[in-house]
Amino acid sequence: MADDVINPVFVDLLPQPLERGVLYISIRYKTMAHLCCCGCGSKVVTPLSPTGWSLIYNGKEASLRPSIGNWSLPCRSHYWILKNRVEWAESWSQERVAAGFNRDVAIKQRYHHDQAQEQSPPAARPADAEAGSPLPREERSTIRKWLSRLLS
Ligand SMILES: [Zn+2]
Repeated sequence: MADDVINPVFVDLLPQPLERGVLYISIRYKTMAHLCCCGCGSKVVTPLSPTGWSLIYNGKEASLRPSIGNWSLPCRSHYWILKNRVEWAESWSQERVAAGFNRDVAIKQRYHHDQAQEQSPPAARPADAEAGSPLPREERSTIRKWLSRLLS
């Protein structure tokens, strides 16, 4: 049975084991975790960061952005958490996951570029990265590492 509701609980450290239907939020460690809402029992970690997930909390209800796509899990579930409700989204095809990955890469490149104090003019930004332009090998392995940490 899938979960349709998930309740935010603020913690310092993640408890062991996690409980279903609970979104654990650690501001201290800037991370969030929950058990996959499809019911498969897999732990899903969503880091709180400018290039990871954003949390909106109104004192009672939590929303996460962007959606949670568990592409590395066998269930490949995909959902949004909106005001404590689990809104199911369609499972993406491999192609769409790859496109999303490239978009993610572009966002990260832009972010790190901005962090690097505008070393090059805006015109040099990887505007075509969304179309899947190849990245330097070093960049790819960094992103792969980041992704595997994100999805573990
Ligand atoms: Zn699952």
